[in-house]
Amino acid sequence: MTEYDVCVVGLGGFGSATAAHLARNGQRVLGLDRYPIGHTQGASHGESRIVRQAYFEGAGYVPLLLRAYELWDRLGDEAGVPPLLVRTGGLFLGRPGSRVFDGSLASAREWGLDHEVLDAAGVRARFPQFNPPPDTAALFEPVAGVVSPERAVAAQLAVAARHGADLRHDEAVESWSASGTGVTIRTARGPHTAGTLVLAPGRWAPELLGGLDLPLRVERRVMHWFDPPGGQAAYGPDRFPIWMWDHPDGTSIYGLSAVGPPGSGVKAAVHHSTVKAPADWSGAEVAELLAPLLPGLGARHLRAMDCWYTLTPDEHFVVGWHPAYEQVLVACGFSGHGFKFTPVIGEALAQLAVDGVTAHPLDLFDPTRFS
Ligand SMILES: Cc1cc2nc3c(=O)[nH]c(=O)nc-3n(C[C@H](O)[C@H](O)[C@H](O)COP(=O)(O)OP(=O)(O)OC[C@H]3O[C@@H](n4cnc5c(N)ncnc54)[C@H](O)[C@@H]3O)c2cc1C
Repeated sequence: MTEYDVCVVGLGGFGSATAAHLARNGQRVLGLDRYPIGHTQGASHGESRIVRQAYFEGAGYVPLLLRAYELWDRLGDEAGVPPLLVRTGGLFLGRPGSRVFDGSLASAREWGLDHEVLDAAGVRARFPQFNPPPDTAALFEPVAGVVSPERAVAAQLAVAARHGADLRHDEAVESWSASGTGVTIRTARGPHTAGTLVLAPGRWAPELLGGLDLPLRVERRVMHWFDPPGGQAAYGPDRFPIWMWDHPDGTSIYGLSAVGPPGSGVKAAVHHSTVKAPADWSGAEVAELLAPLLPGLGARHLRAMDCWYTLTPDEHFVVGWHPAYEQVLVACGFSGHGFKFTPVIGEALAQLAVDGVTAHPLDLFDPTRFS
């Protein structure tokens, strides 16, 4: 008999959600993380994450997003905290033919999602903070919004703990091995045994995947906060949507409503760029790039923070059974767009661990697709 039904390694975005679903379902759960709650070494920090449904990365993600919205709405109540998903609306801008605009529109049409198409004048009229170039097309999605990754992880961990999960921070996994009866996980505090292992180690995945050789690329990104000369109230969640913009120079950049207290600033960051490495854009350069689009944002750079993407070659996730071990599930390679999915991928992983199957569509994320 193993000590635990399931051991979850990594208690960031995905591990915390998986632990919550498993514990809620009566599983004996051990959760291990090498760092304390709220650490800033991985991918789940920085105060805000975009959540949206009209998914330019692929219409195949939409069913997961519809379920994620239900779970986000439930999580705040369950954890006894204010709502986690704040709906701000979202603008997806670019020239017609750009990935952000065309892809968002294709997803919205395929799934009948509520949306409006605006031209540059329409964007300016609706959101006077924006002044897009005349040849811009934009999709507006009313249900897009913001989640705080720190609050979300804390809420998932609180739910898991309330249902009896044994959550241990500052306990790094050094190695693991699987045999017919389960899995042994080794840490400096001794071996632990479990029936199933869920690996959700974020950017440390290459160290822990047990021979599964995935072509993962770990890349730094920098989040920037700006202090608009007119104050940040005009950028609040009640009047300023989250936005993503395919700049004509080949830079994909995004920003969020100002969800922090006065003075904490308005966030923007480079997602991808063909001009130079995304992390090499300084605050001043980001301000210069944004000046035509958001003329009131200004160039007063308040602060910056690093965060890490773990990219797969196709930028789709890796979620499913480890091809060599029937007791091991893998969740990594979230390629800079995973956070909004944490509750639903956590649900899928918990269903796989307990029932062996899930109804959630995970084919796109097959861990063996690169072999
Ligand atoms: C700048 C930035 C902006 C982003 N914006 C968005 C956005 O707007 N919308 C969106 O949906 N997504 C966004 N993402 C992506 C999203 O944040 C990530 O996909 C998500 O946070 C990844 O979660 P994770 O659980 O895989 O990793 P993490 O949250 O980093 O968790 C991994 C955990 O594993 C632990 N761990 C690792 N190795 C071990 C070990 N050996 N033993 C024990 N513990 C271990 C780590 O300590 C860590 O806590 C963004 C990412 C970044 C960096």
